[in-house]
Amino acid sequence: MSDPTAPATESLDADAVDADAVDADALDADALDPYALDRDGIAALLDELGEPAYRARQLHAWLVRGVDDPSEMTDLPQALRQRLQARFAPTRPELVAHTVADDGHTHKLLLRFPDGEAIETVLMLYPDRATVCISTQAGCAMGCPFCATGQAGFRRQLTAGEVVRQVVVADAALRSGVIGAEHLPSGAPSRVTNVVFMGMGEPLANLPATLATVRWLNDPAGFNLSARHITVSTVGLVPGITKLAELGLPVTLAVSLHAATDDLRDDLVPVNRQHPLAEVEQAMAAYRRTTNRRVSIEWCLIGDVNDDRLQADRLGAIARRLRAHINVIPMNPTPGVRWQEPTAAATRDFIDTVERRGATVTLRDTRGRDADAACGQLLASYTLGAGSRLPAAVGAAERIDAAGTLPPIAQAPS
Ligand code: SAH
Ligand code: SF4
Repeated sequence: MSDPTAPATESLDADAVDADAVDADALDADALDPYALDRDGIAALLDELGEPAYRARQLHAWLVRGVDDPSEMTDLPQALRQRLQARFAPTRPELVAHTVADDGHTHKLLLRFPDGEAIETVLMLYPDRATVCISTQAGCAMGCPFCATGQAGFRRQLTAGEVVRQVVVADAALRSGVIGAEHLPSGAPSRVTNVVFMGMGEPLANLPATLATVRWLNDPAGFNLSARHITVSTVGLVPGITKLAELGLPVTLAVSLHAATDDLRDDLVPVNRQHPLAEVEQAMAAYRRTTNRRVSIEWCLIGDVNDDRLQADRLGAIARRLRAHINVIPMNPTPGVRWQEPTAAATRDFIDTVERRGATVTLRDTRGRDADAACGQLLASYTLGAGSRLPAAVGAAERIDAAGTLPPIAQAPS
């Protein structure tokens, strides 16, 4: 693990992200974060300013390219640039840490907004795609005990502009070479091709920003990302799943299950008490029917907690009923709990059992471990490193450890 108090391993040019950051308190009521505007919002603004429609397209194109300073929008008339300057108050984040892992394939950015809240954005490069993992909340209220973000608790919602901005920052970094070419693997894509809502926070607990960001990314006249290249990961907030389906875009839905029995899931994913497994499964089936899109199941595999045969068996059955694909992610250690990833043998056994049930499963690599790259971990270690206390939502972890609640393997149905 890197020392969070040490200077970032490699630093982006922070000015590129932070140029004249605004003081949030000084904004007047009409001030607009340009990234909070979708195509219709931009059109309405320029209409209000008495400008022809093609100016809206020009402004939109600049924003998609990561330029939010009207003075740099060289194809707009000078007078319009000045009027936009007066209206815009971009919420520009400051880059406070940038860690590089996996030989330049993983770039983890810790971004801090003008009010002091920090969030993580991770750029993962593969030969054929560049995926950005974005945050939707500063912190998270869901309290999953194995998750660093959950341990730290909820701070605030991110605005749509703050969520969109993360993709734009990562995309601009790739396009403009802000991440120096020497830190990028050869043949890395030159723009963002995939977006996953798997950073800090629960996207469906911030529906306005999540839905607005999906629409913004998908806009064919704008960022133009296929809905199939967008994945929203949720802990299973059923009303939110329904709303996402109503958006009418075939976004990939990933549900973080982590347990296939309600008693264990009540502890690992506390919101299961409001939306138990049967209800979540129903919502997933409905999502699949409405969008005609295969759903995924995320399973953070924790040694001696959810890696036994009973869980594997039940998970396999759920996945087969839903024809869902399972992603197994060995747990990254987090500061708040003693839990660890399972042994290689337990992992193999778990996957074999799930597959015997007729489900398809992929064992995910744990990207960027050397850069604190698990969900929320860079911030967690940064916070700890800065000396502040990390409030831990780890009661469930203690209960499981103390009670030894897991059924012995012999009890699992074969
Ligand atoms: N709140 C949403 C999206 C953010 S979390 C959700 O929970 O789905 C993204 C993924 O990271 C989830 O599947 C989550 O379970 C996983 N995750 C969280 N902490 C982890 C850890 N310590 N090790 C491995 N995966 C973790
Ligand atoms: Fe929140 Fe997801 Fe972490 Fe749970 S796993 S605490 S829902 S970010």
